Amino acid sequence: MRPRSESHLDQFLASALEEIHLRGLTRRLSPLQTAQQVRVVRDGRSLLNFSSNDYLGLASHPALQSAAAAEWERSGFGSGASRLICGTFDAHEKLDSTIANFKQLPAALSFSSGYAAAMGTVPALCGAGDVVILDKLSHACLIDAARLSGATLRVFPHNDMSRLESHLQWATKKHPSAKILVVCESIYSMDGDRAPLRDIIDLKDRFGAWLFLDEAHAVGVIGQQGRGLADEAGLADRVDIHMGTLGKALGSHGAYIAGSLRLRNFLINRARSFIFSTSPPASVAAASCKAIEIAASPDGDARRSALWRNLRALHELLAMNEPSSAIFPVLIGGESAAVETSERLLAAGFLVPSIRFPTVARGGARLRVTLTADHSPEDIVSLAEALSAELKK
Ligand SMILES: *Cc1c(COP(=O)(O)O)cnc(C)c1O
Repeated sequence: MRPRSESHLDQFLASALEEIHLRGLTRRLSPLQTAQQVRVVRDGRSLLNFSSNDYLGLASHPALQSAAAAEWERSGFGSGASRLICGTFDAHEKLDSTIANFKQLPAALSFSSGYAAAMGTVPALCGAGDVVILDKLSHACLIDAARLSGATLRVFPHNDMSRLESHLQWATKKHPSAKILVVCESIYSMDGDRAPLRDIIDLKDRFGAWLFLDEAHAVGVIGQQGRGLADEAGLADRVDIHMGTLGKALGSHGAYIAGSLRLRNFLINRARSFIFSTSPPASVAAASCKAIEIAASPDGDARRSALWRNLRALHELLAMNEPSSAIFPVLIGGESAAVETSERLLAAGFLVPSIRFPTVARGGARLRVTLTADHSPEDIVSLAEALSAELKK
């Protein structure tokens, strides 16, 4: 028998890390010394931040902090248990109903993260014998959730409606009694483009499938009061399962699934990531409620128009078409080239992350620029100049 010593693990880790390094895919953590805002200090250096998903500038908003502090005074910090044991506080129930009101849907259930929301919901709805059909560019948590479900998986090329249709045809023919779940995003996280929602919804309805729509990058940013793309398109009532996150434009932490009251009750009984996990601190739920209140208020409208003003300015300066989201990808291709470009920008004081495999396809490495409502027109001009200089190289 081979001795399974600590050095055996160590050898495995060393060779795995070496392989990652040789492929130009090493990742490292770089801590911030400031709040999440336009100017950050990271690794001791002051940088202009074009990397966060804090699109409305709410992550360091004093109103979120005071809402959290007031709740913290009332209910302490830790929640002590899962929602179903004794970890549901008034703040959690208030958050769930605030989300439902905001989304203008009958009910919602908050989760501790978007990852947990997907991992809890998809396997609760589908299992072996069912079919899950995903867009190729779906976020890792949607893919992992689909895999965990044990359902048969089919992937269609990004936004390719004829392939979605043929998968639906195949699924209804081959698995006539199966549940069929279509999973996609409304705004794609690494490309910033939009899903053809009306076509997707027409197709899933025609084949009697359900739609799980992840609006992580649309909530707060798109639609009236920031309700998302389905709402903007007037299609919200035709989406079966709405997902959104609270940690991006809403500047807090966590996520939700929204839809019917039955969906909420079902997930309380069946979503394992909800049932078997300690609930988030009540103070975080209180901050999320405040964030939604701001996003839906005139202050939220002002933040959205500042964000879209910045996005249009950047697109104009770089002679690009109209923006479709707050995400601006600059395709580089090679993994090492993307990292080097990001490092040169960093040396010039711009925090613009490179995104590589496995987050995007091999050879599809890119810079992922994100703008926020708090960037000034001067910030956008200086970014555009730095990017143009890099693109000419
Ligand atoms: C960030 C993200 C998630 C995960 O949400 P977290 O709350 O960060 O776990 C899910 N889907 C998409 C599209 C995302 O961009």
